[in-house]
Amino acid sequence: MRRAYNSVLRLPQINMCPQCAAPSMPHRVCPACGYYKGRQVLTITAGA
Ligand SMILES: [Zn+2]
Repeated sequence: MRRAYNSVLRLPQINMCPQCAAPSMPHRVCPACGYYKGRQVLTITAGA
């Protein structure tokens, strides 16, 4: 039981995207705007 609790402590972290303020995973490209570390690395085709 104590070992199982370790996984609870390791919660999935959420970063707030500085570009669009959407919650995104750290070290991941923002799924909303495609920005990562201040530059756009993913082209989001909105409404395509
Ligand atoms: Zn974003």
